[in-house]
Amino acid sequence: MTEKSIQPGRFALYVALILFCVVKPTSAQTQRPDTLPAKANHSDGSTAVEINRGRETDNRLAAPAPVIPPNKTAVTAIRFLSWQNYTRVMLELSQEAKYEVRRLKEDPAKGVPARLYVDIQGARVAMTSKDAIPVDDGLLSQVRIGQYSEDIVRVVLDMTNLGAHNAFVLPGPYRLVIDIYGQKALAPTAPIVAPAIRADLAKSKVLDRSGKPVAPAPPVQGLRKIVLDPGHGGKDPGAIGNGGIAEKDLVLSIARKLAAKLKKEMNVQVVLTRNDDRFVPLEDRTALANAEDADLFISLHMNASPNSEARGIETYYLDNTSDEAAIRLAARENSTARKNVSDLQFILSDMTQNLKLEDSITLAHRLQGAAVGGMGKVLGEVKDLGVKKALFYVLVGARMPSVLVEMFFISNREEGRAMGQGLYQDAMVDALFDGIQKYDQATTMARTL
Ligand SMILES: [Zn+2]
Repeated sequence: MTEKSIQPGRFALYVALILFCVVKPTSAQTQRPDTLPAKANHSDGSTAVEINRGRETDNRLAAPAPVIPPNKTAVTAIRFLSWQNYTRVMLELSQEAKYEVRRLKEDPAKGVPARLYVDIQGARVAMTSKDAIPVDDGLLSQVRIGQYSEDIVRVVLDMTNLGAHNAFVLPGPYRLVIDIYGQKALAPTAPIVAPAIRADLAKSKVLDRSGKPVAPAPPVQGLRKIVLDPGHGGKDPGAIGNGGIAEKDLVLSIARKLAAKLKKEMNVQVVLTRNDDRFVPLEDRTALANAEDADLFISLHMNASPNSEARGIETYYLDNTSDEAAIRLAARENSTARKNVSDLQFILSDMTQNLKLEDSITLAHRLQGAAVGGMGKVLGEVKDLGVKKALFYVLVGARMPSVLVEMFFISNREEGRAMGQGLYQDAMVDALFDGIQKYDQATTMARTL
C-alpha cells in the first residue's frame, strides 16, 4: 500500500559519530558500569552528525593516528540508526575481538533506567574524549565509551526504555552491531516460536530472556509487509554486464515493478531499501527490515562470472557453507575479501544468527522454483542452479525469513541482454510474485494446521 525508501528525516534518524583521537594511556581501573563518564558536551568538535547516508568524516580533526599496540583492538568509531522503537548501534573495531553484552536492571528507587553494557576484550579506546555521546532518539539516551580496565573497553548504553537486544559482529572492516528494541516491540525471542508451537500459543507460555511471559502473537493472516532490497546502488554498481549494463540498475527496476505488483495484487505493504540510485550500507538494509517489522526480506541481485558461459538462477539463505563458489560469491556481494567471509563463518559457527531458518529455506525454494519455471516459459530452458547457503552480510541480523536471489548472470550475453528488456523484467517480476504467493499459501496453511 505504501512504498517507502530510506530518506533522511522521513522515518529514520541517522546519526554518525566518528571519534578520532590519540589513545590516552589509562591505568587499570575497576569501575562499575555506571561510573563511566556522564553526559557532557563535546568541546573538541569530534562529533559529526550524519544527515544523509554515508559516513561523514570530520576532517577538521587532523589528529595524530591513534597509537594502539598491534595486539590490541582499537575501538575507532560509533554510528547509529534510529527508528521509533528500534536502534542499531555499530561500533567500528580495528580487528576481531571477543565481546560480551550484559543487561543491567533498572533501579526505580534511584530513577535509573535499564542499561546495556558491552565489554570488548583486548581493546583500547581510540579517543581522548571521555564525554558521553548524546543520542536521545527516544530509546537510547546516550552512549559512554571508556577504558574499563587495561584490557577491556566498556561501552555503556543508557536507555530510556529497553526491551530485547541482539548483538553480532561483521568483519571487513570489523564492526560490532547491537540491535536494541523498545519494550513495546515484540521480543526477538518470540518469532523463534515455530509454526507448530505458534498454533498452540493459547496453551503454552513463551518466556523471554528475563523469564517474563511474552504476549502471544496476534493470529497470522498471511503476509502484511515485505522489504525488497535492490542490491548495490550509488558508488557500488554491482556486477557490470555487456555494454556496461549495471546490476544496480536492473535490480532496482525489477524491485520497483515487483513492489507495485505486490501492493496492487496481494494488498501487502512493500518497503524498498532504496528507491533510487543511492549507496546503502549492507547492515542498514536489514536494520530497515527489522525496524519495519517486515514479514519477509528479499534481496535482489544478478550473478557474474569470468566465464561468460556461466548462466542460470540461484537463491540463497544465510548459513555456513564450505562451498568455495558460494564463499567467493558472498565475498563479491559483500564487497569484501574472501578471508572476511571465512571469518564471519567462524564468528557465526556457534550462534543461531538466522532465527527464521526454516521459513527462509521454504521461501528460497518457492522463489527459485517460480523463477526457473516462469522464466523458462519466456526464455526457453533456464539453468536451475538451485537453493544454496552462503554468508551474505545483508542477511545477517534479520529477524524475518530472508533470502537473496541471483537472477541470472549479467556476465552472460543472452541473460544479461534479456534482463535489460522490459518484457523479460516483467516475466521475472511475475515469477517472483508467484513464488511469494506460493510461500504465503504454504506458510499460512502450515500455521493453521
Ligand atoms: Zn549483487
